[in-house]
Amino acid sequence: MELSEFRRQAHSLVDWMADYLEHVRDYPVKSQVQPGELLAQLPESPPSEAEPFDVVLADFTDIIMPGITHWQHPRFFAYFPANSSPPSLLAEMLTSTLGAQCMSWQTSPAATELEERVMQWLGGMIGLPPEWIGVIQDTASTATLCSILTAREKRSEFAVNRSGLTGSAPLAVYCSSETHSSIEKAVKIAGLGREHLRKIDVDNAFALKPNALEAAIRADQDQGITPLCTVATLGTTGSTAIDPLRRVGEICREHGLWLHVDAAFAGTALLLEDFRWMIDGIELADTFVFNPHKWMFTNFDCSAYFVRDTEALVRTFEILPEYLKTAEGSRVNNYRDWGLQLGRRFRALKLWFVIRNYGVAGLQAMVRRHITLAQHLANEIEQLDDFELLAPVPLAVVCFRFHPAGVDDPTELDRLNESLLEAVNGTGRMYLTHTKLAGSYALRMVTAQTNVSEEDVHAGWGLIVRAARELT
Ligand code: PLP
Repeated sequence: MELSEFRRQAHSLVDWMADYLEHVRDYPVKSQVQPGELLAQLPESPPSEAEPFDVVLADFTDIIMPGITHWQHPRFFAYFPANSSPPSLLAEMLTSTLGAQCMSWQTSPAATELEERVMQWLGGMIGLPPEWIGVIQDTASTATLCSILTAREKRSEFAVNRSGLTGSAPLAVYCSSETHSSIEKAVKIAGLGREHLRKIDVDNAFALKPNALEAAIRADQDQGITPLCTVATLGTTGSTAIDPLRRVGEICREHGLWLHVDAAFAGTALLLEDFRWMIDGIELADTFVFNPHKWMFTNFDCSAYFVRDTEALVRTFEILPEYLKTAEGSRVNNYRDWGLQLGRRFRALKLWFVIRNYGVAGLQAMVRRHITLAQHLANEIEQLDDFELLAPVPLAVVCFRFHPAGVDDPTELDRLNESLLEAVNGTGRMYLTHTKLAGSYALRMVTAQTNVSEEDVHAGWGLIVRAARELT
């Protein structure tokens, strides 16, 4: 493609992007295509001759767009959001134009030093101890894996890196039964064995029970298993339950365990000082992760990983073949040694744009609004006889179910709510997902999409109530 053609296409694509964002409400939130429908429209072989870009673009709108679920739709109430925002999008345009691969300081000094500064800002913005150092990872799953690998290496005095896992006593990891599946994945990958992951019981608010944690640690010690690490969650995926960090931290200290804090979604709420109670006890932890790519208006992927001991992190991952040696040596950060990947995208730019363009106060106002929307929704649910809340609502996620009079069989209730979910999502006018809480099927409504309004939540809730009553 000639540059003149690129310029013409890029201008019209920017118009397409702005139109999309302006009219995203007109799309069905959840893609309505059937499995295989899209694949059938794509030729089995690539073109041997060049195709005009206009033709490719026409296929994008005709074939690809119907198969897109619209995460930036204000009525995307599913999962946790993957929020973008205009300043973040603009940064991504520049990042891909520069196409820099930022594995070391020398391969783009600005990327490294901007990351250093922005992560220092971000740590302060969410109230982390000032001596903690941040580095951007692609996802929370990767950050958690980094944490568990670092814990393993520190505990073994880096012997596992050197000689493998041979001969040592099994190492156990502890988390609540509500913890995200990425913890189990990390335990498997770190070679610790899924059998050595202890899923600790939770209380009525779905937060980890400290006494049960301590009992599990003691039981392992009695059997010659070495307790390695606890993962505390602030904002579980199911219901945003908050594990009691200080108490968990004290237990970890007493028994010599590493403590990782997974605040993938909830970390953004720490922008608000009145939510900092969630990190009471953070000084007892070793590592912390949260995802600006979930709730902080920064395009996927961008996961903020903070550590107390950078030396242990770097010693775990550092590897220095001849071709990567640079003259600056230890005077600079070479982020290739701060995680799994060698090659790294320039992710700090979008965070910088977002923080500067909204300002901390602007970000705080948006997050506060989302939390208020959830509180209002929870109040509305409480007022209806045929709906019930299934968990506390500390942040911007409301878990509930339809429970009409006379339907008390648990299986029937689950089935009814499953049908309700399908009916609501089938309209294309909103998108909800579900979880299981204390064994019951629960609908989750997340009021944290960048552009969600009170009217969106109100209309979405109205649709749920109408669909529910039509089912019975
Ligand atoms: N931790 C929690 C609590 C989550 O809810 C999620 C994803 O929703 C993750 C970790 C994994 O996040 P990522 O997709 O960034 O790996």
